[in-house]
Amino acid sequence: MPQDLLVVRHDGVAMTAAWFLAVYAIYVMTLVIRRVRASDRDVGIGWWIGGALTVGTGIWAQSFISMLSRQLPIQVGYLPAIVLAAWLPAVLICAVLIWSVSRVHQPVFKRVLSGLLAALGFGFLTYLNVSAMVLQPEVAWDPAWLLVAFAVILVGNVLASVMLRRELLREAKFLNQAGVAVVLGSALHLAQLLMLESAGVQEGTVCLSAQQLSGTYLDWLVSLIGGILLMGVQLGTVLDTRLRRQHAQLVSSLQQAQTDLQVAAHRDALTGLLNRPGFEHHLREVIQSLDESGEAPAGRLAVMRINLDGFRALVNTYGHALGDNLLRQVAKRLLVLVRNTDAPARGDGEEFLLLLPNMPDQHAVAQLAYRIGLAVSQPCVINGEDVTITCSIGIALYPDSVTVEQLICHANEAMLAASKAGGGVYCLHEAGMDISGAKQVEMQRELRYAIQRGELALHFQPKLDAVRGGLVGVEALLRWTHPQRGPVSPAEFIPVAERFGLIGELGQWVMNEACRHMRLWLDAGLEIPVAVNMSAHQLREHDLESRIRETLARHALPADMLILEITESVAMDDIEASLKVFDMLDRIGVKLSIDDFGTGYSSLSYLRRLPARQLKIDRSFVRDLDHSADAQAIVEAVVRLSHALGMTVVAEGVETEAQRQVLVKLACDELQGFLFAKPMADSDLRTWMGSQTVPMAPLHLVPA
Ligand code: C2E
Ligand code: MG
Ligand code: MG
Repeated sequence: MPQDLLVVRHDGVAMTAAWFLAVYAIYVMTLVIRRVRASDRDVGIGWWIGGALTVGTGIWAQSFISMLSRQLPIQVGYLPAIVLAAWLPAVLICAVLIWSVSRVHQPVFKRVLSGLLAALGFGFLTYLNVSAMVLQPEVAWDPAWLLVAFAVILVGNVLASVMLRRELLREAKFLNQAGVAVVLGSALHLAQLLMLESAGVQEGTVCLSAQQLSGTYLDWLVSLIGGILLMGVQLGTVLDTRLRRQHAQLVSSLQQAQTDLQVAAHRDALTGLLNRPGFEHHLREVIQSLDESGEAPAGRLAVMRINLDGFRALVNTYGHALGDNLLRQVAKRLLVLVRNTDAPARGDGEEFLLLLPNMPDQHAVAQLAYRIGLAVSQPCVINGEDVTITCSIGIALYPDSVTVEQLICHANEAMLAASKAGGGVYCLHEAGMDISGAKQVEMQRELRYAIQRGELALHFQPKLDAVRGGLVGVEALLRWTHPQRGPVSPAEFIPVAERFGLIGELGQWVMNEACRHMRLWLDAGLEIPVAVNMSAHQLREHDLESRIRETLARHALPADMLILEITESVAMDDIEASLKVFDMLDRIGVKLSIDDFGTGYSSLSYLRRLPARQLKIDRSFVRDLDHSADAQAIVEAVVRLSHALGMTVVAEGVETEAQRQVLVKLACDELQGFLFAKPMADSDLRTWMGSQTVPMAPLHLVPA
């Protein structure tokens, strides 16, 4: 009965503050919801809980200020326990709201349910606030007003949740978020006012808790606390968003750098053509797409190997500059003759490769080979003089040769046949040419006895500190001197040993021999770490760990004096398997080195996961360093990347002083190459060390 009720005075400033706090709290909630959605599971849960606690505190503060803004003409106070208890529903409401809205694709009934829960929570919160004021007689609630208040909060909730859902599915915009905040914040505030309005206080009522929590500045204090908390969270969301953006930018620029590196790594710096790894990569892609399409190629696919006859002799007589000039001119002539779809490349040394997809027939391939031979044999004008050179061309055709390896190998055999025929001709691969199979069987038979007959030996190539010039270690390289044929290159017999299952025995011999030498040097007072090359097959041996441990123990060596070199392509071939082996080797304590870096297709993220301590830049990059800005850029990028990942960098194949200077400038850590020393036997190594003027700084004298 209105005439029995006390007249309530409204404090406009406190009411505005409460409204503002409601809107601000909801605004911060929209920011938190975005963070929950943008983060991964654990961080998202952190944002959800933290957001619910702070935004809930804001809502709790706001509803208390709403209460304080209604001033009764009697002295009132609030029971602190109930005021504090009201904090819990406020936090729970926010938790429910954040959870339900952040799941944009939730079914409608779940959204309605959480809306209802939130509305009931708000009602309960206001009820608790009113109850904190212990009045005698109790307040009389007007059900009609209560219903209206409930409807307002429900409608506000639904409206805001629809707006928020649409907003979340798009890019974050301040105006959208502010709109949601104004709608839901105002609905919340209005519903609270309506509820408070429905709580009639009769004339003659006394407040039994008048001596409890009260005070003139209570509303300001509560607003301040709520506001500061919300501001803290807002700042957190802004920082988090910025950090995430920076992280995303970093990831994308790393990916870009990786792509650039790969593109650059597949180019030959001297001629601008693809290099050999780039050619093989491209050929592999083309063959793969042919195999996947399952159709016979419309025309024929051919691979050519073009070798310049007598090039070495020319270079030896007239120098490298002439050789480089000649290679560039041949490359230009090739480019004139090929189609856009063909892929010309520079192979090793004086060799070019050519991939010809979709050739009409074998005759067309032969015609092109003839024209290339003719073009190459036209005189080149170098320094005003005519230089004439011919070429031997070998051709392999798909699908006579099916795999990448077969195509390249068969083209090589054909090229050798053309060369043997005197050069200046082309030759198609034929089945009869494949004598290498028989040769390999012969070689593996002889290799089996090589260890017993003492035909194998280890040579050691020094690695020097790039700045100080002192010896930092050696790489052990296997040598086989065949009784009749003389020295056989490891590049020739290691693949045979791998193919015929001999590499395990060979590898074990190398490791034992390397450790034996290390022990001999140690006994002589020299601490020289040795790097041993490992092949892919060795990595897969089940007893690798025990054999390494046994060998180290047999020679009483600390594990960190042994370095294992694993080529990049092997390390990256089956990355998960490599990781397991690498971790095992790392546990033993031996150091790991990635050999021939730049020839494989490393992913930066994988490289980061490998526990390698050292990276060796392949000599194909070092070769072009003194005249190619591209090669310098690649080496510089690799050095920076390695240092960032905590690895030292060794440059392989340093042959000239100019290369050394560039490498030192690019902050390369260690150098290895013919400029300093070729691989040599133990006795020669000791003589070499004695002849060095630079002190062997990193070597430690071991007490006898
Ligand atoms: P790698 O591990 O990359 O070894 C470096 C190769 O570069 C060696 O060839 C070395 O003689 C050569 N080299 C060093 N400095 C220069 C230079 O300034 N210019 C030039 N042009 N070459 C230089 P090598 O001894 O013929 O070995 C070839 C490959 O055979 C090695 O490449 C390695 O992958 C493999 N290999 C050698 N010994 C072993 C072994 O014991 N086990 C296994 N699994 N592989 C081995
Ligand atoms: Mg090596
Ligand atoms: Mg190497």
